[in-house]
Amino acid sequence: MAALGTPSGTIEILKKYNFSFQKRYGQNFLIDTNILDKIVEASAITEKDCVLEIGPGIGTMTQYLARNAREVIAVEIDKMLIPVLQDTLSEYQNVTVINEDILKLDIGRIVEERNGGHPIKVVANLPYYITTPIIMGLLESHVPVESITIMVQKEVADRMQTGPGTKDYGALSLAVQYYAKPEVVTQVSPACFMPKPKVGSTVVKLTVHGQPPVEAKDEKHMFALIRASFNQRRKTLANGLANASGLGLTREKVVSALETMGLQPTVRGEALTLEEFSALSNLLKADSFRKV
Ligand code: SAM
Repeated sequence: MAALGTPSGTIEILKKYNFSFQKRYGQNFLIDTNILDKIVEASAITEKDCVLEIGPGIGTMTQYLARNAREVIAVEIDKMLIPVLQDTLSEYQNVTVINEDILKLDIGRIVEERNGGHPIKVVANLPYYITTPIIMGLLESHVPVESITIMVQKEVADRMQTGPGTKDYGALSLAVQYYAKPEVVTQVSPACFMPKPKVGSTVVKLTVHGQPPVEAKDEKHMFALIRASFNQRRKTLANGLANASGLGLTREKVVSALETMGLQPTVRGEALTLEEFSALSNLLKADSFRKV
């Protein structure tokens, strides 16, 4: 069998199993060994590591991971790929394939059972239709994770890294930067995949913080504020938050907190830094306790 990670090796295995790509699962398989080397190098996997791979496809990157890690858990939703993976991974005793939807899997339990609750490394060429829920799920759930090295759509990588005052700045930027340090590993052209996606891709490494860079007294409250601010990004922050259901805020309360922080009452959410969102959340929380 020709090596996976090349066009000929991929075509050979797809033909052998008469496999047809499922668009709904975001199936674009990597066919560039240079990119595979870069992903594995950036993820800094050692023989001590337990690695979670999301969406192994035909097992191309899984083989690279298995050669470097102690153990690889590969979670694939498409049952048609399971016999393919049994074939391509047959010589690797340290790989477990789970046929499941990653969004439904209890990753915390896997970390507990397979790595004694110690942080795992996540590596994936993500299905783009669920990139944000996968990343947010991993970060917000506080599952022990050391780093997440992932291929994402270029625009998503831009959103992860940007700061206030840009059109890409939003809830994803703030969440990623609260939980992790994002770094670009490499840009990837559509020609490196089969079939070619319509968009450019970027490999990003998120190194999860031991301690968040700001002290939010109530993380959930801060992120509820952030989401409400960017849901209504054209409105001033005071109007947007007062309109948001579930937050129980009045315009006056928000304006008063903004003034305490030295910010204009007309400021928009997209102008606030992570530090400012955390300070605003702490002030509004303290205020709501006083009124109870
Ligand atoms: N890792 C392979 C590679 O690099 O060639 C395949 C990457 S492909 C972009 C995404 C993979 O994720 C596909 O194999 C797809 O079937 C799988 N997938 C899609 N949705 C999934 C989900 N909810 N849970 C687990 N796997 C999923």
